[in-house]
Amino acid sequence: NARKRSRMLELNKEAARFFYQTLHSPQGQTALDYMNRRQISPTIARRFGLGAAPDRWDSLLMAMTAKGYSKADLLDAGLIVKNQKGGFYDKFRNRLMFPVIDIRGDVVAFGGRVLGDGEPKYMNSSETLVYSKRRTMYGLNLAKTTKRTNMILCEGNVDVVMLHHAGFDNAVATMGTAMTQEQVKMLSRYTKELILCYDNDSAGQKATDRALEMLGNSEFTVRVLNLPRRKLDTGELVKQDPDDFIKFQGADAFERLLSGSEHGMEFRLSQTAAQFDLGTDQGRLEYSTAVAQLLSTIVSPVEREIYTVRGAEMAKITPEALRLEVERYRKQSY
Ligand code: ATP
Ligand code: MN
Ligand code: MN
Ligand code: MN
Repeated sequence: NARKRSRMLELNKEAARFFYQTLHSPQGQTALDYMNRRQISPTIARRFGLGAAPDRWDSLLMAMTAKGYSKADLLDAGLIVKNQKGGFYDKFRNRLMFPVIDIRGDVVAFGGRVLGDGEPKYMNSSETLVYSKRRTMYGLNLAKTTKRTNMILCEGNVDVVMLHHAGFDNAVATMGTAMTQEQVKMLSRYTKELILCYDNDSAGQKATDRALEMLGNSEFTVRVLNLPRRKLDTGELVKQDPDDFIKFQGADAFERLLSGSEHGMEFRLSQTAAQFDLGTDQGRLEYSTAVAQLLSTIVSPVEREIYTVRGAEMAKITPEALRLEVERYRKQSY
């Protein structure tokens, strides 16, 4: 098993090298153009080992076979796929390739982006002997040595690459999946403060809520960086992710957002408040119930007290009344 693992890691490293060389060959021109269009600089592309999968059915298969790897090796690593007739073809074709590198520096998987429009937008390696999605964070191999005191959590590969390029070398991503306890535990080895910076669309908001819930009982200080919508010339407001924001507003503006990011509980309080009409008694009553439930999940008594006072202010009720309500929910959950 250990032998199989190290052989697979060797193969992945060879494959990453192959994609990297392809990007810098005539075959990689389309991918290189795409990269330039997205303002991914050659320097940052090298740091992340970005590459290109050729627009052919068996380029990687041929190259790796020539290096002595078998079809079984390639299948196990998830680099080739079997067709109905029993033939084999490359899983990643005509894509910009992002090697996924773990904290030991091993290439454990790949993400491939289509060059332009097309479906699926991203193709990721399936789980293998060396790749467990729940235990991997894109960019952590680099972010783990950051001098910053916190880490920025975002959704996508390009977000991480662009943030690092803009000087935020503390960015990591979950690659589109929900954050797991394993990832939280891994991050806790490197930082005590997390800043959630998901896309400001509805999927991103849902992911933020879920992450806040999961991190609620953890030792982390959690903050939420809420990206503003971007105003087009037509006046229309559009959603954006960290990559878009950096591109249109720049690194300094992102730094300002970062220092102004709200504490996780503050964020949840104002989100809860926005769901009710605090101008009516009924709205304030419903808000108090919802907020009391939320506050009852805070483990630290001091923190609970601080946010109880804040929540009471918002509902214009006395802190004592809210405190009683919070205690009621705490008793219920034990
Ligand atoms: P881009 O900026 O390249 O258009 P993105 O990172 O903004 O992409 P999102 O749609 O926000 O893309 O998705 C976030 C992340 O989720 C992606 O970076 C990718 O890792 C993963 N992802 C997105 N779409 C898919 C898909 N169809 N299959 C698998 N993973 C996906
Ligand atoms: Mn998204
Ligand atoms: Mn994006
Ligand atoms: Mn996005």
